[in-house]
Amino acid sequence: MSACLLGVPCRWKGDARPCEGVLRLAERAVVRTLDPATRRALEKHHAESAEFVSHAESTENSEVVSHAESAENAEFVSHAESAENAEVVSHAESAENAEVELVPFCPELAAGLGCPRPPIELEEGAVSNPSTASTISTSSTLQPRGSALPIRVLRVDRKGDATEALRAACEAEAEALEHAGGVDGFVLKARSPSCGLASPLHDAAGREIGTAPGLWAALAAERFPSAERVDEAHFSRGL
Ligand code: SF4
Repeated sequence: MSACLLGVPCRWKGDARPCEGVLRLAERAVVRTLDPATRRALEKHHAESAEFVSHAESTENSEVVSHAESAENAEFVSHAESAENAEVVSHAESAENAEVELVPFCPELAAGLGCPRPPIELEEGAVSNPSTASTISTSSTLQPRGSALPIRVLRVDRKGDATEALRAACEAEAEALEHAGGVDGFVLKARSPSCGLASPLHDAAGREIGTAPGLWAALAAERFPSAERVDEAHFSRGL
């Protein structure tokens, strides 16, 4: 689950993109807490912000609350009864009644890109280091038809290459999901260079030349080929 769809203010501008349908789903779900690295990154970068409030009453009883800026004032609230061992927060009346377990994940925060951060985008044919360059997903059917060029995830201002950091974070998340027993489906933020199923693809001059899956979307397709993958438009069409 792309964390920003749950109201986590993790987008490059430091805001969220809560999706009403996703939030309704979360009410019937067990929602895993954000991983510690992501929580620390959010706390650090939103510490001064009125939209993000972190209360830690004690090491035994901590609470992280984030308020999104949506018109609906959507909230993502994570309560950890014990900071050391709580892994999930349940919006359902009881974990037994929950219909689904949601795992919020923000690849760009997990990759250490920070929040807020410079925007990134997909570029076809960019090779920062030929020895490590590889396609995001040459074997994936989501790769643009007829394309054999490597795709990298670059800062829009072309002052940095996030590909390897994102790849490492996404592979670690995929392994964690596999270790936890797999995944039935992914709900992903549309058009994101990390999460989008069909994100804008650019050439070296910055011109939009088509679409390609974001790095996390492509890796998810490779590692969990039988899992359903949808973006938030699926929820706006109604469940
Ligand atoms: S990387 Fe994915 S989860 Fe993180 S802000 Fe972008 S779209 Fe949302």
